[in-house]
Amino acid sequence: MTSQLFDLAGRVAVVTGGNGGIGLGMARGLAAAGAAIAIVGRNEAKSNAAVAELAAIGARAIAIAADVTDQAEVEAMVAHVLEAFGRLDILVNNAGINIRKPPHELALADWRQVLDTNLTSAFLCSQAAHSAMKQDGGGKVINIGSMMSIFGASYSPAYAASKGGIVQFTRSCAVAWAPDGIQVNAILPGWIDTELTQNARREVDGLHDKVLVRTPAARWGAADDFAGIAVFLASAASDFVTGTAIPVDGGFSVMG
Ligand code: NDP
Repeated sequence: MTSQLFDLAGRVAVVTGGNGGIGLGMARGLAAAGAAIAIVGRNEAKSNAAVAELAAIGARAIAIAADVTDQAEVEAMVAHVLEAFGRLDILVNNAGINIRKPPHELALADWRQVLDTNLTSAFLCSQAAHSAMKQDGGGKVINIGSMMSIFGASYSPAYAASKGGIVQFTRSCAVAWAPDGIQVNAILPGWIDTELTQNARREVDGLHDKVLVRTPAARWGAADDFAGIAVFLASAASDFVTGTAIPVDGGFSVMG
């Protein structure tokens, strides 16, 4: 019973930004539960390395080079997945960037790049995946938010706006697509040790220690902390769960 609830054999998952960090942590979990994986990113060498790693644990995996801010590339990516695997059951909208500047210094081009990469990409990928999911009787969309879906940060106005938007976009798709059997949920990571935050630790003085003090679990998260939540939200175990935003943060968001 338990194993069936979380079994992803025969399912096909797209993970944007799956070639490293949190995306690869989720891809590893989905692959271990039996899903075939399409890793989507711009850096082909990194994507090929991620595919080799997943293949080594016995998963069917392919790399697709695409910029998720580009509608034509997103549509071609979904067509590629359908051609390679014949179906698309799980979409993880994980690709993301940050440009750290206070609101009075952020250029319009920077604002647009962050919103396009973190929020518009989720719209484009979800819209492109919707009909394939509906046709097969349902699916799962997992959007990646942040603690900045909840809190503000003086140095990340565009990032926080994009991640707040992800939560409202999640709720809207959950309502719209419930009749199609598609569940749409968000994960809100706390502070996780990845390339993204290695840059943040260089750019924001004292960040490393502030996170340790502010996180009840008293550690930075790891990419593999996202394997379990990804499998839950991608599997039958979560069939009556939709429109939620689940923190995976070692308690950061409940620390008073
Ligand atoms: P990484 O920098 O390690 O990974 C980001 C991924 O996004 C890369 O695989 C990158 O691949 C991909 N990406 C970026 N831009 C594009 C694009 N235009 N088209 C396609 N792929 C793109 O960061 P994390 O693993 O830390 O972040 C993953 C997600 O988790 C992001 O949405 C981030 O905002 C979120 N998050 C992270 C937190 C953390 O503490 N690390 C905290 C809260 C949220 P490539 O360069 O090959 O295109």
